[in-house]
Amino acid sequence: MSEFSPYAAQEHTSKGRMFAESNPVYRNQYQRDRDRIIHTAAFRRLEYKTQVFVNHEGDMFRNRLTHSLEVSQIGRTIARVLKVNEDLTEAICLAHDLGHTPFGHAGQDALNACMREYGGFEHNLQSLRVVDKLEERYPEFPGLNLMFESREGILKHCSRKNAEELGELGERFLQGRQPGLEAQIANIADEIAYNNHDVDDGLRAGLITITQLAECKIFNEQLEQVKSRWPDISEKRQVAEVVRRMINHVVTDLVNTSTSLINEFNPQTIDDVRAQKNPLIQFSRGVHEDHLQLKRFLRKNLYQHDRVRQMTQKADEVINQLFNAYMKDLSRLPEDFQQRIDAESGPTADQHAARVIADYIAGMTDRYAFAEFEKLNG
Ligand code: MG
Repeated sequence: MSEFSPYAAQEHTSKGRMFAESNPVYRNQYQRDRDRIIHTAAFRRLEYKTQVFVNHEGDMFRNRLTHSLEVSQIGRTIARVLKVNEDLTEAICLAHDLGHTPFGHAGQDALNACMREYGGFEHNLQSLRVVDKLEERYPEFPGLNLMFESREGILKHCSRKNAEELGELGERFLQGRQPGLEAQIANIADEIAYNNHDVDDGLRAGLITITQLAECKIFNEQLEQVKSRWPDISEKRQVAEVVRRMINHVVTDLVNTSTSLINEFNPQTIDDVRAQKNPLIQFSRGVHEDHLQLKRFLRKNLYQHDRVRQMTQKADEVINQLFNAYMKDLSRLPEDFQQRIDAESGPTADQHAARVIADYIAGMTDRYAFAEFEKLNG
Protein backbone atom coordinates (compact mmCIF):
# COMPACT_ATOMS: atom_id res chain seq x y z
CA MET A 1 0.00 0.00 0.00
CA SER A 2 3.04 2.22 -0.07
CA GLU A 3 1.96 3.77 -3.35
CA PHE A 4 -0.62 5.77 -1.37
CA SER A 5 -0.16 8.96 0.57
CA PRO A 6 -1.02 8.47 4.25
CA TYR A 7 -4.13 10.62 3.82
CA ALA A 8 -5.54 8.48 0.99
CA ALA A 9 -8.56 6.28 1.61
CA GLN A 10 -7.25 2.80 2.33
CA GLU A 11 -8.85 -0.50 3.16
CA HIS A 12 -7.24 -0.88 6.56
CA THR A 13 -8.56 2.49 7.78
CA SER A 14 -11.92 2.16 6.02
CA LYS A 15 -15.23 2.40 7.80
CA GLY A 16 -16.09 -0.66 5.72
CA ARG A 17 -19.38 -2.08 4.45
CA MET A 18 -22.74 -2.09 6.17
CA PHE A 19 -23.05 -5.88 5.83
CA ALA A 20 -19.95 -7.99 6.49
CA GLU A 21 -18.59 -9.85 3.46
CA SER A 22 -15.54 -11.95 2.76
CA ASN A 23 -12.63 -10.18 1.09
CA PRO A 24 -12.32 -10.20 -2.70
CA VAL A 25 -9.57 -12.50 -3.95
CA TYR A 26 -8.29 -10.78 -7.09
CA ARG A 27 -9.31 -7.20 -6.47
CA ASN A 28 -9.15 -4.66 -3.71
CA GLN A 29 -12.35 -3.50 -2.01
CA TYR A 30 -12.70 -0.35 -4.09
CA GLN A 31 -12.18 -2.20 -7.36
CA ARG A 32 -14.98 -4.45 -6.21
CA ASP A 33 -17.16 -1.39 -5.63
CA ARG A 34 -16.36 -0.05 -9.09
CA ASP A 35 -17.22 -3.39 -10.67
CA ARG A 36 -20.49 -3.63 -8.76
CA ILE A 37 -21.44 -0.18 -10.04
CA ILE A 38 -20.66 -1.10 -13.66
CA HIS A 39 -22.91 -4.16 -13.45
CA THR A 40 -26.00 -2.25 -12.29
CA ALA A 41 -29.09 -1.63 -14.39
CA ALA A 42 -28.89 2.03 -13.38
CA PHE A 43 -25.41 2.32 -14.91
CA ARG A 44 -26.51 0.81 -18.23
CA ARG A 45 -29.48 3.16 -18.40
CA LEU A 46 -27.20 6.22 -18.22
CA GLU A 47 -26.62 5.67 -21.94
CA TYR A 48 -30.16 6.80 -22.68
CA LYS A 49 -30.32 9.73 -20.31
CA THR A 50 -29.80 13.35 -21.28
CA GLN A 51 -26.70 15.26 -20.37
CA VAL A 52 -27.67 18.51 -22.15
CA PHE A 53 -29.11 17.25 -25.40
CA VAL A 54 -32.14 14.98 -25.20
CA ASN A 55 -31.17 11.47 -26.15
CA HIS A 56 -32.92 11.37 -29.52
CA GLU A 57 -31.41 14.72 -30.64
CA GLY A 58 -28.41 12.99 -32.14
CA ASP A 59 -25.79 10.35 -31.65
CA MET A 60 -22.88 12.77 -31.56
CA PHE A 61 -23.61 14.29 -28.19
CA ARG A 62 -22.66 13.24 -24.69
CA ASN A 63 -25.12 11.26 -22.68
CA ARG A 64 -24.84 10.52 -18.97
CA LEU A 65 -22.87 7.36 -19.59
CA THR A 66 -20.16 8.96 -21.71
CA HIS A 67 -20.16 11.90 -19.30
CA SER A 68 -19.54 9.54 -16.38
CA LEU A 69 -16.67 7.88 -18.27
CA GLU A 70 -15.06 11.26 -18.95
CA VAL A 71 -15.44 12.26 -15.30
CA SER A 72 -13.79 9.02 -14.28
CA GLN A 73 -10.91 9.49 -16.73
CA ILE A 74 -10.18 12.98 -15.40
CA GLY A 75 -10.65 11.92 -11.78
CA ARG A 76 -8.31 8.94 -12.07
CA THR A 77 -5.53 11.05 -13.53
CA ILE A 78 -5.74 13.54 -10.66
CA ALA A 79 -5.98 10.79 -8.04
CA ARG A 80 -2.91 9.04 -9.39
CA VAL A 81 -0.79 12.19 -9.43
CA LEU A 82 -1.81 13.06 -5.87
CA LYS A 83 -1.17 9.47 -4.76
CA VAL A 84 -4.64 8.93 -3.38
CA ASN A 85 -6.91 5.97 -4.09
CA GLU A 86 -7.50 5.81 -7.84
CA ASP A 87 -9.88 2.84 -7.66
CA LEU A 88 -12.11 4.59 -5.15
CA THR A 89 -12.04 7.78 -7.22
CA GLU A 90 -13.08 5.80 -10.28
CA ALA A 91 -15.92 4.11 -8.40
CA ILE A 92 -17.28 7.46 -7.15
CA CYS A 93 -17.01 9.06 -10.59
CA LEU A 94 -18.81 6.21 -12.33
CA ALA A 95 -21.61 6.22 -9.75
CA HIS A 96 -22.06 9.95 -9.30
CA ASP A 97 -25.02 10.32 -11.70
CA LEU A 98 -26.75 6.96 -11.14
CA GLY A 99 -29.73 8.68 -9.55
CA HIS A 100 -30.23 11.25 -12.26
CA THR A 101 -33.71 11.55 -13.74
CA PRO A 102 -34.42 11.47 -17.48
CA PHE A 103 -34.12 14.86 -19.29
CA GLY A 104 -31.19 16.27 -17.34
CA HIS A 105 -31.70 19.17 -14.96
CA ALA A 106 -35.16 19.95 -16.27
CA GLY A 107 -36.19 16.43 -15.26
CA GLN A 108 -34.64 16.80 -11.81
CA ASP A 109 -36.45 20.11 -11.24
CA ALA A 110 -39.77 18.70 -12.43
CA LEU A 111 -39.58 15.64 -10.21
CA ASN A 112 -38.48 17.75 -7.24
CA ALA A 113 -41.55 19.94 -7.76
CA CYS A 114 -43.84 16.88 -7.92
CA MET A 115 -42.28 15.62 -4.68
CA ARG A 116 -42.51 18.94 -2.81
CA GLU A 117 -45.11 17.72 -0.30
CA TYR A 118 -43.43 14.35 0.03
CA GLY A 119 -39.88 15.23 1.02
CA GLY A 120 -38.55 16.50 -2.33
CA PHE A 121 -36.20 14.87 -4.80
CA GLU A 122 -32.40 15.35 -4.92
CA HIS A 123 -30.49 13.48 -7.60
CA ASN A 124 -27.39 13.14 -5.41
CA LEU A 125 -29.34 11.52 -2.64
CA GLN A 126 -31.04 9.37 -5.26
CA SER A 127 -27.65 8.11 -6.49
CA LEU A 128 -26.98 6.95 -2.94
CA ARG A 129 -30.45 5.40 -2.78
CA VAL A 130 -29.72 3.45 -5.95
CA VAL A 131 -26.56 1.89 -4.53
CA ASP A 132 -27.92 1.49 -0.98
CA LYS A 133 -31.45 0.28 -1.66
CA LEU A 134 -32.82 0.15 -5.17
CA GLU A 135 -30.50 -2.21 -7.01
CA GLU A 136 -31.61 -5.76 -6.22
CA ARG A 137 -28.67 -7.94 -7.09
CA TYR A 138 -27.51 -9.78 -3.99
CA PRO A 139 -29.22 -12.48 -1.94
CA GLU A 140 -28.02 -11.19 1.41
CA PHE A 141 -28.37 -7.44 1.32
CA PRO A 142 -30.22 -4.64 -0.45
CA GLY A 143 -28.34 -2.48 -2.92
CA LEU A 144 -24.62 -2.96 -3.55
CA ASN A 145 -23.33 -2.82 0.04
CA LEU A 146 -20.55 -0.42 -1.01
CA MET A 147 -17.66 0.72 1.16
CA PHE A 148 -18.36 3.75 3.37
CA GLU A 149 -15.91 5.90 1.39
CA SER A 150 -17.67 5.16 -1.91
CA ARG A 151 -21.02 6.12 -0.41
CA GLU A 152 -19.49 9.22 1.20
CA GLY A 153 -18.24 10.30 -2.23
CA ILE A 154 -21.51 9.67 -4.03
CA LEU A 155 -23.40 11.90 -1.61
CA LYS A 156 -22.00 15.18 -2.83
CA HIS A 157 -24.68 17.52 -1.53
CA CYS A 158 -27.49 16.97 0.88
CA SER A 159 -30.10 19.07 2.63
CA ARG A 160 -29.92 19.41 6.41
CA LYS A 161 -33.14 17.53 6.84
CA ASN A 162 -31.98 14.57 4.78
CA ALA A 163 -28.54 14.63 6.41
CA GLU A 164 -30.18 14.18 9.81
CA GLU A 165 -31.68 10.91 8.63
CA LEU A 166 -28.47 9.50 7.20
CA GLY A 167 -26.54 8.78 10.39
CA GLU A 168 -22.76 8.82 10.09
CA LEU A 169 -22.89 9.54 6.37
CA GLY A 170 -24.90 12.72 6.93
CA GLU A 171 -22.77 14.09 9.77
CA ARG A 172 -20.38 16.07 7.63
CA PHE A 173 -23.21 18.15 6.17
CA LEU A 174 -24.35 19.07 9.66
CA GLN A 175 -20.86 19.78 10.96
CA GLY A 176 -19.48 21.54 7.89
CA ARG A 177 -16.72 18.99 7.31
CA GLN A 178 -15.25 17.50 4.14
CA PRO A 179 -15.25 14.06 2.56
CA GLY A 180 -11.99 12.29 1.64
CA LEU A 181 -9.79 13.58 -1.17
CA GLU A 182 -11.10 10.96 -3.61
CA ALA A 183 -14.62 12.38 -3.22
CA GLN A 184 -13.33 15.94 -3.55
CA ILE A 185 -11.52 14.96 -6.75
CA ALA A 186 -14.60 13.27 -8.23
CA ASN A 187 -16.63 16.39 -7.48
CA ILE A 188 -14.30 18.72 -9.38
CA ALA A 189 -13.66 16.17 -12.16
CA ASP A 190 -17.42 16.30 -12.78
CA GLU A 191 -17.29 20.09 -13.23
CA ILE A 192 -14.21 19.94 -15.44
CA ALA A 193 -15.77 17.26 -17.62
CA TYR A 194 -19.10 18.96 -18.23
CA ASN A 195 -17.73 22.45 -18.71
CA ASN A 196 -15.44 21.16 -21.41
CA HIS A 197 -17.65 18.64 -23.14
CA ASP A 198 -20.55 21.07 -23.19
CA VAL A 199 -18.34 23.55 -25.04
CA ASP A 200 -17.57 20.80 -27.53
CA ASP A 201 -21.19 19.61 -27.88
CA GLY A 202 -22.55 23.16 -27.96
CA LEU A 203 -20.22 24.11 -30.81
CA ARG A 204 -20.99 20.92 -32.72
CA ALA A 205 -24.71 21.55 -32.35
CA GLY A 206 -24.20 25.08 -33.64
CA LEU A 207 -25.86 26.61 -30.56
CA ILE A 208 -22.77 28.57 -29.56
CA THR A 209 -19.92 29.90 -31.67
CA ILE A 210 -16.17 30.22 -31.29
CA THR A 211 -16.51 34.00 -31.53
CA GLN A 212 -18.95 34.01 -28.61
CA LEU A 213 -16.77 31.65 -26.58
CA ALA A 214 -13.79 33.92 -27.06
CA GLU A 215 -15.44 36.16 -24.38
CA CYS A 216 -14.32 33.54 -21.92
CA LYS A 217 -10.74 34.02 -20.85
CA ILE A 218 -10.03 30.34 -20.37
CA PHE A 219 -11.19 29.51 -23.90
CA ASN A 220 -9.62 32.52 -25.57
CA GLU A 221 -6.16 31.96 -24.11
CA GLN A 222 -5.99 28.46 -25.52
CA LEU A 223 -7.62 29.48 -28.81
CA GLU A 224 -4.98 32.16 -29.44
CA GLN A 225 -2.16 29.70 -28.82
CA VAL A 226 -3.70 27.08 -31.09
CA LYS A 227 -4.35 29.63 -33.85
CA SER A 228 -0.81 30.98 -33.79
CA ARG A 229 0.78 27.53 -33.80
CA TRP A 230 -1.57 25.94 -36.39
CA PRO A 231 -3.14 28.80 -38.39
CA ASP A 232 -4.54 26.56 -41.12
CA ILE A 233 -6.17 23.63 -39.34
CA SER A 234 -9.88 22.85 -39.70
CA GLU A 235 -12.29 24.19 -37.11
CA LYS A 236 -12.99 20.66 -35.95
CA ARG A 237 -9.34 20.06 -35.06
CA GLN A 238 -9.01 23.54 -33.64
CA VAL A 239 -11.92 22.99 -31.23
CA ALA A 240 -10.65 19.57 -30.19
CA GLU A 241 -7.20 21.00 -29.47
CA VAL A 242 -8.58 23.97 -27.53
CA VAL A 243 -10.79 21.70 -25.40
CA ARG A 244 -7.89 19.31 -24.77
CA ARG A 245 -5.71 22.23 -23.67
CA MET A 246 -8.42 23.71 -21.46
CA ILE A 247 -8.76 20.40 -19.61
CA ASN A 248 -5.00 20.11 -19.27
CA HIS A 249 -4.76 23.71 -18.07
CA VAL A 250 -7.33 23.36 -15.29
CA VAL A 251 -6.18 19.89 -14.23
CA THR A 252 -2.57 21.11 -13.96
CA ASP A 253 -3.69 24.10 -11.91
CA LEU A 254 -5.85 21.86 -9.71
CA VAL A 255 -2.98 19.45 -9.05
CA ASN A 256 -0.54 22.26 -8.23
CA THR A 257 -2.91 24.21 -6.01
CA SER A 258 -4.12 21.10 -4.19
CA THR A 259 -0.55 19.90 -3.65
CA SER A 260 0.33 23.21 -1.94
CA LEU A 261 -2.81 23.06 0.20
CA ILE A 262 -2.08 19.48 1.21
CA ASN A 263 1.48 20.46 2.11
CA GLU A 264 0.26 23.45 4.08
CA PHE A 265 -2.37 21.58 6.13
CA ASN A 266 -0.30 18.41 6.24
CA PRO A 267 -3.04 15.84 6.90
CA GLN A 268 -1.74 12.52 8.25
CA THR A 269 -4.89 10.48 7.78
CA ILE A 270 -8.15 10.58 5.86
CA ASP A 271 -9.82 11.78 9.07
CA ASP A 272 -7.50 14.80 9.10
CA VAL A 273 -8.75 15.53 5.57
CA ARG A 274 -12.34 15.12 6.74
CA ALA A 275 -11.80 17.49 9.66
CA GLN A 276 -10.97 20.42 7.34
CA LYS A 277 -13.51 23.21 6.98
CA ASN A 278 -12.62 23.68 3.31
CA PRO A 279 -11.76 21.23 0.55
CA LEU A 280 -8.05 20.61 -0.06
CA ILE A 281 -8.76 19.89 -3.72
CA GLN A 282 -9.09 23.35 -5.22
CA PHE A 283 -8.27 25.49 -8.22
CA SER A 284 -6.12 28.58 -7.76
CA ARG A 285 -8.18 31.73 -7.32
CA GLY A 286 -7.53 32.85 -10.92
CA VAL A 287 -8.46 29.56 -12.56
CA HIS A 288 -11.47 29.25 -10.28
CA GLU A 289 -12.69 32.63 -11.58
CA ASP A 290 -12.06 31.61 -15.21
CA HIS A 291 -13.81 28.28 -14.65
CA LEU A 292 -16.85 30.08 -13.20
CA GLN A 293 -16.87 32.55 -16.08
CA LEU A 294 -17.14 29.65 -18.54
CA LYS A 295 -19.80 28.01 -16.40
CA ARG A 296 -21.88 31.22 -16.42
CA PHE A 297 -21.38 31.55 -20.16
CA LEU A 298 -22.70 28.02 -20.73
CA ARG A 299 -25.68 28.57 -18.47
CA LYS A 300 -26.69 31.71 -20.31
CA ASN A 301 -25.86 30.71 -23.87
CA LEU A 302 -26.25 26.95 -23.97
CA TYR A 303 -28.41 25.57 -21.15
CA GLN A 304 -30.90 28.42 -21.58
CA HIS A 305 -30.71 28.44 -25.36
CA ASP A 306 -34.16 28.29 -26.96
CA ARG A 307 -33.43 25.03 -28.68
CA VAL A 308 -32.23 23.32 -25.50
CA ARG A 309 -35.25 24.74 -23.68
CA GLN A 310 -37.63 23.39 -26.29
CA MET A 311 -36.03 19.98 -25.89
CA THR A 312 -36.30 20.03 -22.13
CA GLN A 313 -39.61 21.92 -21.80
CA LYS A 314 -41.42 18.75 -22.63
CA ALA A 315 -39.70 17.16 -19.63
CA ASP A 316 -41.85 19.10 -17.21
CA GLU A 317 -45.05 17.97 -18.89
CA VAL A 318 -43.95 14.34 -19.21
CA ILE A 319 -42.79 13.99 -15.61
CA ASN A 320 -45.79 15.82 -14.16
CA GLN A 321 -48.27 13.72 -16.08
CA LEU A 322 -46.54 10.47 -15.21
CA PHE A 323 -46.28 11.34 -11.53
CA ASN A 324 -49.92 12.39 -11.23
CA ALA A 325 -51.19 9.42 -13.20
CA TYR A 326 -49.32 6.96 -10.96
CA MET A 327 -50.40 8.74 -7.78
CA LYS A 328 -54.03 8.54 -8.90
CA ASP A 329 -53.85 4.92 -9.97
CA LEU A 330 -51.07 2.84 -8.44
CA SER A 331 -52.04 -0.14 -10.59
CA ARG A 332 -50.37 1.63 -13.51
CA LEU A 333 -47.00 0.91 -11.88
CA PRO A 334 -45.08 -2.28 -12.64
CA GLU A 335 -45.83 -5.13 -10.27
CA ASP A 336 -42.60 -4.98 -8.28
CA PHE A 337 -43.09 -1.28 -7.57
CA GLN A 338 -46.70 -1.91 -6.51
CA GLN A 339 -45.48 -4.57 -4.13
CA ARG A 340 -43.04 -2.13 -2.55
CA ILE A 341 -45.93 0.24 -1.90
CA ASP A 342 -48.18 -2.53 -0.55
CA ALA A 343 -45.52 -3.50 1.94
CA GLU A 344 -46.19 -0.28 3.82
CA SER A 345 -49.35 1.49 4.92
CA GLY A 346 -50.55 3.87 7.61
CA PRO A 347 -50.44 7.63 7.99
CA THR A 348 -47.40 8.02 5.74
CA ALA A 349 -48.79 5.79 3.00
CA ASP A 350 -49.10 8.66 0.50
CA GLN A 351 -45.58 9.79 1.17
CA HIS A 352 -44.32 6.26 0.78
CA ALA A 353 -46.19 5.78 -2.50
CA ALA A 354 -44.82 9.08 -3.81
CA ARG A 355 -41.26 8.00 -2.99
CA VAL A 356 -41.67 4.70 -4.82
CA ILE A 357 -43.13 6.55 -7.80
CA ALA A 358 -40.18 8.97 -7.77
CA ASP A 359 -37.82 5.97 -7.74
CA TYR A 360 -39.63 4.55 -10.75
CA ILE A 361 -39.62 7.82 -12.71
CA ALA A 362 -36.01 8.67 -11.82
CA GLY A 363 -34.93 5.28 -13.12
CA MET A 364 -36.49 5.89 -16.54
CA THR A 365 -34.46 6.70 -19.62
CA ASP A 366 -35.56 9.62 -21.81
CA ARG A 367 -37.12 7.33 -24.39
CA TYR A 368 -38.85 5.13 -21.83
CA ALA A 369 -40.40 8.17 -20.15
CA PHE A 370 -41.64 9.38 -23.53
CA ALA A 371 -43.09 5.95 -24.32
CA GLU A 372 -44.94 5.81 -20.97
CA PHE A 373 -46.21 9.33 -21.59
CA GLU A 374 -47.50 8.30 -25.04
CA LYS A 375 -49.23 5.29 -23.50
CA LEU A 376 -51.03 7.52 -20.99
CA ASN A 377 -52.20 9.78 -23.75
CA GLY A 378 -53.42 6.94 -25.92
MG1 MG B 1 -22.20 14.71 -13.53
